[in-house]
Amino acid sequence: MTTDFTAPTMLEQCRALDAQDPLRAMRQQFDLPAGVIYLDGNSLGPLPRRTAERVAQAIHGEWGTGLIRSWNSAGWFEAPQRVGDKIGQLIGANAGEVVATDTTSINLYKVLSAAISIAKNDHPTRSTVVSERSNFPTDLYIAESLCRQHGLTLQLIEPEELAGLLASPAAPNIAVLMLTHVNYRTGAMHDMASVTAAAHAAGALMVWDLAHSAGAVPVDLNGANADFAVGCGYKYLNGGPGAPAFAWVNPRLADRFWQPLSGWWGHAAPFQFTPDYQPAPGIARYLCGTQPILSLTALECGLDTFLGVRDCVAGEPMAALRRKSLALTDLFIARVEARCAGHGLRLVTPREHQQRGSQVCLARDEGAYAMVQALIARGVIGDYRAPDVLRFGFTPLYLSFEDVWNAAEHLAQVLESGEWRQPEFNRQHAVT
Ligand SMILES: *Cc1c(COP(=O)(O)O)cnc(C)c1O
Repeated sequence: MTTDFTAPTMLEQCRALDAQDPLRAMRQQFDLPAGVIYLDGNSLGPLPRRTAERVAQAIHGEWGTGLIRSWNSAGWFEAPQRVGDKIGQLIGANAGEVVATDTTSINLYKVLSAAISIAKNDHPTRSTVVSERSNFPTDLYIAESLCRQHGLTLQLIEPEELAGLLASPAAPNIAVLMLTHVNYRTGAMHDMASVTAAAHAAGALMVWDLAHSAGAVPVDLNGANADFAVGCGYKYLNGGPGAPAFAWVNPRLADRFWQPLSGWWGHAAPFQFTPDYQPAPGIARYLCGTQPILSLTALECGLDTFLGVRDCVAGEPMAALRRKSLALTDLFIARVEARCAGHGLRLVTPREHQQRGSQVCLARDEGAYAMVQALIARGVIGDYRAPDVLRFGFTPLYLSFEDVWNAAEHLAQVLESGEWRQPEFNRQHAVT
């Protein structure tokens, strides 16, 4: 992909871009505090305007008044599928292929378990699950547990070793390749279609974690012919803290295996109350128990807000968002290079558009944590990822070019003034 975007070198140019931005009305859909430039929507998306009222209505009307009738009358029972279908529109899945449920960690347990079981059935001699050492830890912990249960080996590699491994004489050992599409700490993005094709050529099944992709970059799971995917509801989908996550399974595999958490919500006929388990056809079997309806309601508000992009631009919502996301990250990189040179910052995120998610990560040998704290004190909210990364997420739904310009200015001032050395910015909190 080439760019027709030249990063502004003057604040006035940023304001002119904002004035022409077809997405600018989307910002009004969010309840962002005044004076905050929010660069952490990749970790916890902000509160959509409609959510508080809608959740209050679910509490008072659906729960308080409707009581148990609301499982039918308020659409509670179908909520995981209904919300899943809205997520599907952002990740190249068809209606009926996604459920919104549980957490990313739990959904990964379910799909990786299914992938391992199918692989062991089809290729009994394959003995490894492969992932990246730099993957998000929970993904590795879940994989480690499943490998112990199944007598497999978890093989961890560096991103640059992947292509070689899949083409090597060791490839016939690989049962499952499990990758996160956009790396949480570097913002580097895999080419989903080509990696999936290489995994399949090696005879392995492909599991994708879309935690930093869903709502951040265009994803086409069916187009890539992926096998399994999971992702997160509280990051770019703005579902609220601890929002339900999601799971997708390619329809050609969905009926092949009982996922291990075979609870009654994944039963073909839960209200028959039979003593034996009959898995529901398709993705519904990936549900386990009773769903958190209030959290699903909030997640649905996040998705409805997101899909409101269709009222602003023609065509695919993710295409328009991607265009602006790349322009915002290009601008931030250019401004950091123009204003923060000589202060020891290194760009961690790839410059090539096709290898970049919707975040920009900078590394610094000393002081990364304190610099993020000093920025937060100025109202510029990003986050720190150990050991040395300043991470900034860019969400085109509510960020302006002027915001990005100003964020880089604040970073330059934090560096020039040395204010990050103040003790209050160097006290570590439990959550970074
Ligand atoms: C955010 C994230 C998770 C979060 O998992 P939870 O179960 O919601 O805590 C998992 N994997 C990746 C790659 C993530 O970025």
